[in-house]
Amino acid sequence: MISQLLFGATLFAAAKSTLATNSSTSRPGVDCACSALLQKNPDSVLLPASATFEAQTKHFWDIRSAVIPSCMVFPSNADEVSEALTVLASCNAQFAVRGGGHMNFPGSNNIEGGVLLALNNITDMSVDEAASTIAVRPGNTWADVYGALDPYGLYTNGGRMKTVGVPGLTLIGGFHYFINKWGYTMDSVKSYDVVLGNGTQVVATSTCNSDLFWALKGGANNFGIVTKFVLQAYKVPQISTTIQSFDEASIEKFIQATSEMTINDDGQVGAGSVVSINYNVTTDVISGLLLGVQEGTESPPSRFSAYTNIPPTMQINNVTTPKVWHSDKETPNQMFRVQFAHHTVRADASARLYEIYQAWKVAVSEIKDVEGLYPTFVLNVMPKSAASVAKNNGVGNVWGLPDDESLIIWQLSTGWANAEDDLRMTAWAKNFLEYHHAINQAMGIASEFLYMGDAGEFQNPYLGFPAENVQRLRDVRSRYDPGQVFTKLNWGGFKLSI
Ligand SMILES: Cc1cc2nc3c(=O)[nH]c(=O)nc-3n(C[C@H](O)[C@H](O)[C@H](O)COP(=O)(O)OP(=O)(O)OC[C@H]3O[C@@H](n4cnc5c(N)ncnc54)[C@H](O)[C@@H]3O)c2cc1C
Repeated sequence: MISQLLFGATLFAAAKSTLATNSSTSRPGVDCACSALLQKNPDSVLLPASATFEAQTKHFWDIRSAVIPSCMVFPSNADEVSEALTVLASCNAQFAVRGGGHMNFPGSNNIEGGVLLALNNITDMSVDEAASTIAVRPGNTWADVYGALDPYGLYTNGGRMKTVGVPGLTLIGGFHYFINKWGYTMDSVKSYDVVLGNGTQVVATSTCNSDLFWALKGGANNFGIVTKFVLQAYKVPQISTTIQSFDEASIEKFIQATSEMTINDDGQVGAGSVVSINYNVTTDVISGLLLGVQEGTESPPSRFSAYTNIPPTMQINNVTTPKVWHSDKETPNQMFRVQFAHHTVRADASARLYEIYQAWKVAVSEIKDVEGLYPTFVLNVMPKSAASVAKNNGVGNVWGLPDDESLIIWQLSTGWANAEDDLRMTAWAKNFLEYHHAINQAMGIASEFLYMGDAGEFQNPYLGFPAENVQRLRDVRSRYDPGQVFTKLNWGGFKLSI
């Protein structure tokens, strides 16, 4: 105990000098918050001088997000989150919150010269087999969740890649393979534990703080820090998977098949995909990739029959468990500087999608000199049955999507190596997207829906929500965060405007 106190005191003294040397880059209130947090719980605070701090600055997917905060705080439970928020609010300190660190733009989950509140250490999970639910703390990844459900033959609709974080994805909506049957991740949340900006802890369910419950279904980080999600789980002990790749000559048919699969999806059987087209600028080879997953053991999975008539260059079918399937879907941190950005069209617009793909190919060839260029054209499908879940579950979600039309997100995911290309790459993506979206608008095939998980920092997903839902979100925000801690002090992600 004494040695702990001495360690704490030494750390605090060292910290004060580090804070002093950092003060020129700090924002107002930040030194006050870092000092107070250190004093309260020295073991939970990291300062720039330490090696652990350095390692934690790399715990972001996009290299662009690895900026340097003045201090990092790692609460280990909801009470410590509450304590930290109270300090941040009273010092008027600007801060960012990090879950899995996968949102990819600078400032989405980190803050230069501010306080980073990192949730990595809040990791417990518990499965309630009888209720078929799992309670998940925000330091977990989706691989952790699928691993915990595995012994019970249960599955839930979270992220499709291994290391994406639970909290960020769940708060913005969440695309899983089986959205066609279970809706989006937010539609499977039964309750949220939330720490509000004044440090108060509340629970939000369909019957308790139900306005906040609704707002958290897609309303992102405008209301508080979620310290527990209770998610519905579903009996799916095994899944049938298919991995197929296609050459450039087949891309038109590949896009047509994606459109056909989306339009014909009835949601009876949980099935869905990741569909992408990769352009290898070194070899000049273009290839299409389908990752298809269906519930059950029918192999090959029949819900991907739209692709059957296209000759694949590679095909691997398998029957496995969700845990095993997700366990190798690695998306390592800090591989590149990377930007997502997208727009959305009606799912039956496959001819137009092919045209956009062709234009993308030309646009990529014009920036081939960019070092480390890694361009991917992604199709994220949104069958109308996915929107039906929220329409019929008595709660809804903030997207308020109609369920009479299926949609496809066309997304640019572009990686590159050097900071000097940041502005060029952002301008390139923005110009390409806005030009083609305007054509889609003129053709009457565009949707204004934008998904926060696939959007660029220059896009505003709230403009795609029904206006009355945005107003309702504002009303909820004024009830639960009257001090506007999450509007004026917390940076990151996509914020409701004032
Ligand atoms: C490689 C990759 C694969 C992806 N795959 C999918 C996919 O299959 N399906 C899908 O829907 N999306 C996917 N996404 C998008 C992903 O959902 C978002 O990037 C999401 O924000 C990631 O969550 P996170 O916890 O890792 O994010 P973070 O970057 O840690 O957080 C995202 C935002 O949420 C805030 N936040 C985090 N935790 C909390 C909390 N507990 N309370 C309040 N606010 C909080 C942060 O401050 C930040 O603004 C993918 C992204 C990448 C990079």
